[in-house]
Amino acid sequence: ASGYTLLRDPHFNKGLAFSEKERDAHYLRGLLPPTVIPQETQVKKMIRHIRQYQVPLQKYMAMMDLQERNERLFYTLLINHVEELLPVVYTPTVGEACQKYGSIFMRPQGLYISLKEKGKIREVLRNWPEKNIQVVVVTDGERILGLGDLGCQGMGIPVGKLSLYTALGGVRPSACLPITIDVGTNNEELLNDELYIGLKQRRATGQEYAELMHEFMTALKQTYGEKVLIQFEDFANHNAFDLLEKYRSTHLVFNDDIQGTASVVLAGLVAALKLVGGNLADHRFLFLGAGEAGTGIAELIALETSKQTNSPLEEVRKNIWLVDSKGLIVSSRKDSLQHFKKPWAHEHEPVRNLLDAVNQIKPTVLIGTSGQGRTFTKEVIEAMASNNEKPIILSLSNPTSQSECTAEEAYKWSQGRAIFASGSPFPPVEYEGKVFAPGQANNAYIFPGFGLGLIMSGTIRVHDDLLLAASEALASQVSQENYDKGLIYPPFTNIRKISAHIAAKVAAKAYELGLATRLPQPKDLVKFAESCMYTPSYRSYR
Ligand code: NAP
Ligand code: MN
Repeated sequence: ASGYTLLRDPHFNKGLAFSEKERDAHYLRGLLPPTVIPQETQVKKMIRHIRQYQVPLQKYMAMMDLQERNERLFYTLLINHVEELLPVVYTPTVGEACQKYGSIFMRPQGLYISLKEKGKIREVLRNWPEKNIQVVVVTDGERILGLGDLGCQGMGIPVGKLSLYTALGGVRPSACLPITIDVGTNNEELLNDELYIGLKQRRATGQEYAELMHEFMTALKQTYGEKVLIQFEDFANHNAFDLLEKYRSTHLVFNDDIQGTASVVLAGLVAALKLVGGNLADHRFLFLGAGEAGTGIAELIALETSKQTNSPLEEVRKNIWLVDSKGLIVSSRKDSLQHFKKPWAHEHEPVRNLLDAVNQIKPTVLIGTSGQGRTFTKEVIEAMASNNEKPIILSLSNPTSQSECTAEEAYKWSQGRAIFASGSPFPPVEYEGKVFAPGQANNAYIFPGFGLGLIMSGTIRVHDDLLLAASEALASQVSQENYDKGLIYPPFTNIRKISAHIAAKVAAKAYELGLATRLPQPKDLVKFAESCMYTPSYRSYR
């Protein structure tokens, strides 16, 4: 290839880092200024460049631009400055990017499969330049973070998630495929926007939707084989549970909103018990929000508790309560409840609002999965604090604007006693002379390592026990030093090491269950995981 082409291919481009020899060998002379700059210096230069932007969306665009130009520099930068850049390429900024995706759309970063491609999905997959795909992240854009239906503009989510698969989990970028399914949108604003990039029609539902999805799922398996991991992301719950149920026995599928969230939150809770005391069975849980995240977490807590105590699921579920938009989920509502809520309809009189539910149920743990900001009010947090010495409060909704409360509110209203974590990051808070560093209860801890574990072991199906294994692995990575600061998650700085541990535990469980096809089983799975991880330092071209 000519030097010019080399500079324009993001997989190979190294910019000024091309050595003198490479410049001679690959016809690069004169196409670059004379200085040779090593990758470390480029990283320094880029982080300075990103920092000069005050507006988060501008930082996001600078990062996307870099990804398009020089992939290895993008990943090195992201890995070396992960705490700083995660909020840029992921929640909260990715949410704003999706809202404005129409106007910032530059080059396609993934595949768009719309109703127009029905009957041709295998051909569409063939148009993607990479053939050895290991992970697909797919959305239909109907429930993007807590921002609702963003239609085709949801593409930012699979793109962002997959860049974390690579940066945090070490999956090769060329093995990652972001896909957006476009069956229309019910977002009036987008439908009326002449610049909207997606199909301008209301969402297809029922059989039409199911047929497109089925063709899609079939085509993925035909094209990439049995072991391709398909991660569902930000589907509305009326499709998410059904898709997972339908495909979990034929495909390697994983719903991050239901299963990934559950695994990361269970890990945080297990860690929090070290600070608060007691076992899972000794605690009472109340959720605001009974959708994918809420019921997914509730179910995994119940599963773990039932294993720990040797008691039936139905029994341990009774310690877990959920509130949805209509109030506490109770047995008198059972007939009108969506199927995923029914297991949580316990005997109790109707309760309309969260505050009354907190006062009556007296939970020790309060978890926000409602997508509604500012719903953990002063009264709610004060009630938690008056019932508990150390209330556990998790505001999981993303992005920051939808968080059920801020870190500052959680600490202030509980007089500094809350064990708090949130889905989107909050800066440290000073309260009465003490500094509280809130943790981030975010799926990004789990899915990259989880996916790596599945891929490296050639696992063909996801089993709930694999989620439990991932949870346990994450909780075990919280150090005494972290606990001393009140943290229930380890810092993201060590995330690649953490991911390798998660991958190893997940793979070990998959081998134990007979779901792993890569034989023989490697002796040291942590070492094996590390050896499988893509590192973005430059290669030399000779
Ligand atoms: P979902 O399936 O749509 O569920 C939302 C739930 O919230 C529904 O049960 C809904 O009630 C309930 N709700 C809405 N408004 C409410 C209100 N005012 N009061 C009480 N309940 C209310 O969504 P999801 O997938 O669970 O996601 C929810 C949020 O969690 C999103 O913001 C998402 O970004 C966040 N999330 C965070 C993480 C993380 O890593 N931290 C992971 C996944 C999701 P009805 O059922 O009555 O409509
Ligand atoms: Mn999601």
